[in-house]
Amino acid sequence: MGPQAITNPKEGVIQYQLEFEIDHDIDCPQFAKLNGWRSYLHRLGLIGQDPVRYDGLGYGNVSHRAENDAFVISGTQTGHLPLLCREHYVLVEETDVQHNYLKARGPIPPSSEALTHAALYLASDHIQSVIHVHSPLLWQRASQLSFATTPEQIGYGTPAMADAVTRLVQKESEEEGVIAMLGHEDGIIVYGSDVEVVGARLLKAIMEAHQFDEHYFK
Ligand SMILES: [Zn+2]
Repeated sequence: MGPQAITNPKEGVIQYQLEFEIDHDIDCPQFAKLNGWRSYLHRLGLIGQDPVRYDGLGYGNVSHRAENDAFVISGTQTGHLPLLCREHYVLVEETDVQHNYLKARGPIPPSSEALTHAALYLASDHIQSVIHVHSPLLWQRASQLSFATTPEQIGYGTPAMADAVTRLVQKESEEEGVIAMLGHEDGIIVYGSDVEVVGARLLKAIMEAHQFDEHYFK
């Protein structure tokens, strides 16, 4: 099958222009580690799907850098699945953030938030993995936990969000970090030099949030 142009599907999820080619044989770097973390985060409810939250849409996604600025990311609307396999991951080969454009190949189209992941990989060569979760616990305590934040008026999956995260990463000039997207309810992004580093950073943030609450309510 040749490339398909998919332009802003009406499902209200994918907001970028996607050039997509079906391919069941893409390479998934660090697949076992990435997918292991994804399963764990699903069990914790940080990735998932809930009929009473976010209009019932799936939420959360994970990615890992491939060659150059390409990356592998979990596919769109896979949040409800407890376990993913290689057929649920897709390679984003090219991105033009300014023009809201992605070119991808894989068994299914990429997550609706792939543009934000792309911006992070483009912002720093040190970033090898990005995890996006939904956590009311972390999101509501973003300022106490000193997370970098994107402004309330910037929505998810948009070029404006991509620009905002690029600026934050360049400003922080750190190899790992946590960003709270104030314009995307409960939206948290963690990035770093390795999947394990990113997962550990996320768990550390959760521990700190709980510790803050214990301290606060004493
Ligand atoms: Zn999200």
